[in-house]
Amino acid sequence: MSFYNKKPPSEHVYEDTIVWQCSACTCWSRLEFVSQAEPKCPICSSQMHKELKNIRVIDEDEQKY
Ligand SMILES: [Zn+2]
Repeated sequence: MSFYNKKPPSEHVYEDTIVWQCSACTCWSRLEFVSQAEPKCPICSSQMHKELKNIRVIDEDEQKY
């Protein structure tokens, strides 16, 4: 029946994403939200480096409801 075609509700979706990670504190920002080539941390102004982080992403199907 059609009930079984429904995807199970996925409240938390995690994905490996490249982010800018601050070298001095825990602050980080998604790569797509940073336009600078070498951004500085908005909190402590330290150098940031690219890092692969497993972060929570929003399920696109979820947004429709
Ligand atoms: Zn920082």
